[in-house]
Amino acid sequence: MKEYIAVFDIGTTAVKGVLIDGQAAIIGEYRVRVNTYYGKNGEVEQCPADWWEGMKEITQKWWSVLNIEAKQVVAITFTGQMEDIISISPTYPNQKAILYSDNRFEQEAAYIMKRLPNIQAETGNIIRSSTPLAKLLWMKENREELMENTQCFVFSSKDYGIYKLTNKFVTDPTTAATTGMMNLHTRAWIPVIMEIFGLDTNKLPNLCGSEEIVGYVSASAMEETGFLQTTPVLCGSGDAGATAMGVAAVHQGDTYFYLGTTGWAAMVQEIISPNIQGMFHLAHIVPHLTISIAPLLNAGNVHGWAVETFASEDTDDKNSAFEELVKEAPVGSNGLFFLPYIHGERCPMQNSDAKGAFWGIGPKTSKSDMARAVMEGICFSYKQLTDLIIDLGDNDVLTLIGGGSKSAVWCQILADILGLQVRVPADSEYMPALGISASAFVQLGWVDHYYAFSERFLRTAESKMYEPNRLNHEVYEEIYETYLKMYPSLKGMYE
Ligand code: ADP
Repeated sequence: MKEYIAVFDIGTTAVKGVLIDGQAAIIGEYRVRVNTYYGKNGEVEQCPADWWEGMKEITQKWWSVLNIEAKQVVAITFTGQMEDIISISPTYPNQKAILYSDNRFEQEAAYIMKRLPNIQAETGNIIRSSTPLAKLLWMKENREELMENTQCFVFSSKDYGIYKLTNKFVTDPTTAATTGMMNLHTRAWIPVIMEIFGLDTNKLPNLCGSEEIVGYVSASAMEETGFLQTTPVLCGSGDAGATAMGVAAVHQGDTYFYLGTTGWAAMVQEIISPNIQGMFHLAHIVPHLTISIAPLLNAGNVHGWAVETFASEDTDDKNSAFEELVKEAPVGSNGLFFLPYIHGERCPMQNSDAKGAFWGIGPKTSKSDMARAVMEGICFSYKQLTDLIIDLGDNDVLTLIGGGSKSAVWCQILADILGLQVRVPADSEYMPALGISASAFVQLGWVDHYYAFSERFLRTAESKMYEPNRLNHEVYEEIYETYLKMYPSLKGMYE
């Protein structure tokens, strides 16, 4: 009988489910879209009941379409979006979850930071509008009854899935690190923080390691899903932890970039780096490691602007048309530079008034120079993060994920600018699910450690490699010095 691990990845756009076998091969990928509700006061919410319906729909497909038998599923594990507030309350069973991107909580975040200005020393992070602690404080003031009737709050969609399967209230250290209430050094809740703000510490879930069995499928969950009651359910991890694992970042200094709508550079560390403003620090799935993340506001969204501005109108595939335009210009875009801060920036400097700029336009500057300069400028801003914050150490490979990694030209520019091999894993949609399946491999004894999972299945996984071109790298090293002068020169004009 072939055995499988069932993995659910409850993201913002969809609930995804996969079955993973003992060789870490993925089968049975299904996704069910979920609705997001946007309110006029800035509410961004989802119905947890939709996540559960999505999970049930996926399991039915496994039984009925793939003819998998429930006894073949030997463990269930999870990943999902973080920084949510999910109230589990028998009185309000249909209560919507507040998502991370719901921005109603600026005032509460500012108040907490004023009361506890050094909170980052313990939690690893400052309190922002998205932080669950700020959201709880808001609920205390604005949703008193719901607060009182809540049995437990959980902070990731995955924790809701676990609750529905097992009736257990749990969360993992990666998710908890985003809440503003966990000590990142000891991985324990800090009750005193909640007490200061009059919040009830009894409403926090238990903290469990990703590979821990938190319970077994309940009788009612068996009825609804078809899973057997003997199947263990693991704690899994919030999406940032699953992603770090999925890209095989499990050792001190392992670094990866995300080039999505916005972007970030992340690095695995054994100790938490000093409190660099604007950085986040999260617990890694591997207990003694942390993930340090430098976020960028300007990434794919700037590319999107450039595509709309410079790519020809007469095409169905503007991204490809833009790609062709970029290829026409030489390395260094004929002396044209682009500062990509069209949305302001928050790392390495915090300046919401910053703007984008071209510099070096001459009589021969072409549209393709402008297109290429945009891609180069975004890559330079990532390079600046590696120089200032993210220590690449001895690494000669950098993993790149996110929508921007679909562009071969952009990946090559990044490899040339950094002077490093850029690795783009195939099938990145299911990478977090594959990453967190490691928690079940460890629990089942299929591998003896997360490192072994990474060596056996992730480092060897199918991926595309971009080799740096040494000559191009030398050109970029020189012109990077000019790029670095742009922001300080323009800074005065932004005020
Ligand atoms: P999100 O961060 O919203 O999940 P994605 O990871 O899908 O988004 O990344 C979206 C970004 O990916 C877009 O802003 C776009 O710049 C970039 N992108 C998507 N497809 C391509 C492509 N073919 N070439 C270059 N960039 C692309």
